Amino acid sequence: MTEDDAIDVLICGAGAAGLTLAIDLARRGVSFRLIEKMDDPFQGSRGKGIQPRTLEVFEDLGIVDKIAASGGYYPHQREYHDDGSMRDVALVEACEPIPSEPYGAPLLVPQFLTERAMRERLAELGHAPEFGCALVAFEQDGQDVTARLAIGGEEQTIRASYLVGTDGGRSFVRQALAVGFPGKTLGVRAIVADVTLTGLGRDVWHRFNEGSMETQISFCPLTEKGSFQMQGPVPLEGDIDLSPEGLTALTAERTGRTDILIQSVSWASAFNMNARLADSYRVGRVFLAGDAAHTHPPTGGQGLNTSVQDAYNLGWKLAAVLSGAPETLLDSYEEERRSIAANMLGLATRLLEDMKRGEIRRGREVRQLDIGYLGSSLSLEEPQRQARILAGNRAPDALLKGAAGQPVRLFDLFKGPHWTLLEFEVQTVAVNPRKGLHIHSIGQGGDLIDNENRFRDTYEVASGDRILVRPDGYVGAIVSQGNVAALEAYLHDVGLKTRATAGR
Ligand SMILES: Cc1cc2nc3c(=O)[nH]c(=O)nc-3n(C[C@H](O)[C@H](O)[C@H](O)COP(=O)(O)OP(=O)(O)OC[C@H]3O[C@@H](n4cnc5c(N)ncnc54)[C@H](O)[C@@H]3O)c2cc1C
Repeated sequence: MTEDDAIDVLICGAGAAGLTLAIDLARRGVSFRLIEKMDDPFQGSRGKGIQPRTLEVFEDLGIVDKIAASGGYYPHQREYHDDGSMRDVALVEACEPIPSEPYGAPLLVPQFLTERAMRERLAELGHAPEFGCALVAFEQDGQDVTARLAIGGEEQTIRASYLVGTDGGRSFVRQALAVGFPGKTLGVRAIVADVTLTGLGRDVWHRFNEGSMETQISFCPLTEKGSFQMQGPVPLEGDIDLSPEGLTALTAERTGRTDILIQSVSWASAFNMNARLADSYRVGRVFLAGDAAHTHPPTGGQGLNTSVQDAYNLGWKLAAVLSGAPETLLDSYEEERRSIAANMLGLATRLLEDMKRGEIRRGREVRQLDIGYLGSSLSLEEPQRQARILAGNRAPDALLKGAAGQPVRLFDLFKGPHWTLLEFEVQTVAVNPRKGLHIHSIGQGGDLIDNENRFRDTYEVASGDRILVRPDGYVGAIVSQGNVAALEAYLHDVGLKTRATAGR
């Protein structure tokens, strides 16, 4: 048994949540290890719907274009009816990008390609998941977490200031903490398999017997290697033959077609759908994120997205506290993210009911653009506003001009680990500059020009207003000219201290 030097954060599980957290910590210079008990990367397509809000997160993390390039938009769904007729319908409502929401529609990207792009980004930052390394035990005290890792036949003990369990629905970390995971088993078991096949075109998502929980079956074309994701409910009990022959027979039984032949199966699983939410997301120095904290039915494509956004919410807070921000900042993680997951569970379960009736359509609610942290202890408004954009809302994009005349997107200004303060037509420079805060002045004499009023109209600001945007792209504070002291106090509380106050 060996003992390594202490690290800041141990991340247990290199799925979408763990990889997101690792990228975020890596770019912040936090020391961490990302361990994964599997010997190789996961190879299934399962979480294939990437919602617009997650694309914004991916833009910030520097992977959006790679992920978009390895996927595509959702195809239409072709419904096959008993009488031999068929109908093509849009699965997602048409949604063009607009300046404040640059990603209009969700993308369809097999999960293993999303995770591959994340690992590539992590490599650019000088890190990699440690495969074949399982967390087998841990304990914590007021100072740190001591964890036992199994690597091959060896054991290693390490110390970390924090442990984050991103170890999936059966989370070892959650169970070791004895955190409850109440909810329900939804009485639906389904298969999901990545297959190659003959007999179906690749231009639509083929769905047979929509609405029947006994005979429904669907084939969604994936981008890679000409494969399809095959999905369908199966009986709650009994073995399912997931071989090519078994899936061909199941297909023939449900579609009446003998021309659809499954040629190969690269990954397959039969799973029971659950809707469960962890009783708490934090116990001392240990956190839960992603499926470890919530499991959803796949309807609506919310699980991976919610997992990525959990990690994105937690990453900057861990980094801030490790750099001296008050520990209480970490309490806002559960405060902000647990209620979001509770709503997602409701949404995904409702969509599952719609699917059972053959009525599932995915509207704006699945895109996650309206998720926010209104009412959070991190949301400050002085004075209180009656406007579209409030403290806690997602900070929308807008196109402005730099003082040098070039186009400037707000999202380009937000990109990176810093906070951003947007001062609108503020005459006096009253907020002290400090490390980790980018201050931009909009208006006459400022570094940004809003001559088409895009910023003013999107954020509904008046002269003298200041908008503080958090590192994760949400509005932290909105204060008017006379309330700079409240803003200074806020900045201090989240760890953004001036050189003069750094020691306090
Ligand atoms: C059929 C299907 C379709 C889906 N469709 C969508 C969709 O369209 N959109 C969407 O958003 N989501 C979807 N999901 C859900 C999505 O796949 C999950 O929400 C997502 O994978 C959760 O990511 P995670 O990182 O939290 O957990 P996981 O991906 O489960 O990763 C956890 C990792 O932790 C590792 N681990 C576990 N224990 C240990 C240990 N002790 N030590 C070290 N490592 C450990 C595991 O090996 C695993 O790699 C779908 C799921 C299914 C089944």
